[in-house]
Amino acid sequence: MKHALKLNLALISWIAVSLSQAGIPAGKARSTLEAGNLRFVEGKALAHSWQKGTVAKTGALGQTPAVAVLTCADSRTPPELIFDMGVGDLFVCRNAGGFDTPEVNATFEYGVAALGVHTILVLGHSKCGAITATLEGKPVPGNISLLTKSLRPGIEKILQDHTDLSKEDQLNHAVEALVRYQMLELIKNSELLRKATADGKLQVIGAVYDVETGRVRFLD
Ligand SMILES: [Zn+2]
Repeated sequence: MKHALKLNLALISWIAVSLSQAGIPAGKARSTLEAGNLRFVEGKALAHSWQKGTVAKTGALGQTPAVAVLTCADSRTPPELIFDMGVGDLFVCRNAGGFDTPEVNATFEYGVAALGVHTILVLGHSKCGAITATLEGKPVPGNISLLTKSLRPGIEKILQDHTDLSKEDQLNHAVEALVRYQMLELIKNSELLRKATADGKLQVIGAVYDVETGRVRFLD
């Protein structure tokens, strides 16, 4: 029994290491992320035990993450956990609300040009506090207004077109609208990312994470 358990643990850690070492092939980013999210939701995550082999390999040889993620700083949306990814798998930028800035854009340009990123995922999430504050439009202290000012253009249309909705529905619409807006912003604000997309070397995809179920819904 003890022997079988040991074998089982060895197999699981081997699979976890292999997952990280294999990288994510171009064209399989979405299905790989979906599969990882399913493992997370079903309590079958593999990538978060001590990854001795992967840490040693990426430490010695360098990183080659295939997927970059732009998402909110919200403590409930850690991309590596919700997609069951390991060390060296994801190249991540986060800020409250998850929006493009010159620094975020430059970071993704570096990911694409120097590290081999072929997919950027813009990931929104339900119950986003930053988007809620932007929708409410009340005065905010300190530098927080920088966030709401940056988020507002992406949800302006929701405020104009959906005045009839409940606050909850308005927020849900705004979260998705912001993801679509940021997908366009990343490309609009970068000649390098535009060219990579035109050359078929980069795709930008969007998704929304549900903080209550742990499930990610990819946008068409
Ligand atoms: Zn948020």
